Amino acid sequence: MKQKINLLSYLVLVMMLTLTGYAQDNTSLRIVRGKTDTVFARSHFVIGVAEPGSNVYINDILVKQYSTGSFGTELMLQHGDNPVVVRVVSGAKEVSDNFSVFYKQAPAPQPVKTTHFNSPVVVTKKGAYLNSSSGADRLGGNKMNFLAEGIALELLGVEGNLYKVRLSENRTAFIPRQFADVAPFGQMPATSISSSWSVTNAGNADRIRIALENRQPYLVYRSVDPNQLVVELHGTFNNSNWITQYRNLNSIEHVHLNQIGSDVLQVVVSLKDKYSWGYSVDYVGNSLEIIVKHTPKVLYERSRNPLAGLVIGLDAGHGGPANGAVSPSGIKEKDLNLDMVLALKEMIEKKGGKVVLSRSEDIDVPMQQRGEIFRNGKVDLMVSVHCNAGGNPLRPMGTSTYYRHIEYRPLAKTILNRIMDLEVGEFGLVGNFNFSMNAPTDFPTVLVETLFMSSLPDEELLASPKFRREMMEKVLFGLEEYISEVRKSL
Ligand SMILES: [Zn+2]
Repeated sequence: MKQKINLLSYLVLVMMLTLTGYAQDNTSLRIVRGKTDTVFARSHFVIGVAEPGSNVYINDILVKQYSTGSFGTELMLQHGDNPVVVRVVSGAKEVSDNFSVFYKQAPAPQPVKTTHFNSPVVVTKKGAYLNSSSGADRLGGNKMNFLAEGIALELLGVEGNLYKVRLSENRTAFIPRQFADVAPFGQMPATSISSSWSVTNAGNADRIRIALENRQPYLVYRSVDPNQLVVELHGTFNNSNWITQYRNLNSIEHVHLNQIGSDVLQVVVSLKDKYSWGYSVDYVGNSLEIIVKHTPKVLYERSRNPLAGLVIGLDAGHGGPANGAVSPSGIKEKDLNLDMVLALKEMIEKKGGKVVLSRSEDIDVPMQQRGEIFRNGKVDLMVSVHCNAGGNPLRPMGTSTYYRHIEYRPLAKTILNRIMDLEVGEFGLVGNFNFSMNAPTDFPTVLVETLFMSSLPDEELLASPKFRREMMEKVLFGLEEYISEVRKSL
């Protein structure tokens, strides 16, 4: 008996559905999406189909109907009831469908039960960077990379003026105490499950955005063979199953990822150009943003002088109360640096280049501010000019150039080669150098330590305005040669 009733209701249901279907065909209007009782999103799509060639109005606004008969619109709902009237006019015939959509704000998520974290946590401040050890020398300890602000890290201890922090299960590092605040009790160190990525051309740079739940600490590695930028996201668990890469990328060949530890996600950015023009890693909200600059457009105009159209930052070391080194006869390094930088400026401008100076007079400018001047001036590359000191005062000590990041080695090497065309000693090409003006990754940098203030033979050369000019001419030739090499590689 029971089965019979069930069969009967089934038949009734089938008949009803068939009838309804027939009725809809007859009116030639069918709403296929959006006829919903209650929704939790303000944006609401109404999609339907009607006899092709009709005029379709949704809430009295004419909407586009496609040749298939399909039409649709997006409504912005008000809180509460939203009446929707879909009207189809086809010749003298008119059909309509009225319904109502109730918009309710999504219920607030249930507060997550707070798990108290017993170890203290520190949160990074603007300008923060990581050191790989608690060691130090004249210019501070070995820096790994800068770190964005607002990153919460487990505090493991204090060594001198450094916090020892945990980046992930098996990785620790040090952070200067002035660049992190101890968080209120109970705050957890950040962990995240990663989400989708997008890689886009942002005009003069390519941009990668990786959605995370929190701001995670990261380590950045650059290699030139293979030509890659690698960013390790610590405390991060991979669930990035969607990586959009557009075809118009300029500096990025492709990106991919590896979960290299239980909580370390490695972001591998394969680069197109042999020569690098800078990159940066930062956060926008909780999304990690990696920017890789394009080769300056002017370099593709081969008819021009290599330096034409480029913006070159020139940094004269020291100034004001900071004399730098002082020679045996009393010459101050700050004066020679400025004199040489002004000469080089004139030479670059003659070649059609633009110059941004960190100082043009006898004043001291703090290192951080010098970096800002060059960043704001959008320099394509930067040369810092100093004179050296130390070693044997009776021997020529020679010239040297310095880079911090491996991708800028060719720049430092080419300039050293050209200076060595002069009859001066060689003090060498110095890598991984911890000088603040070599620290930026967002533009190429080179430090030129012309000669030694403390060496009597070097001092004699430096004291000659003609020699100083010759030396800057060699720096200019080095720059031109470097840019020519870059052009050849394009
Ligand atoms: Zn100096």
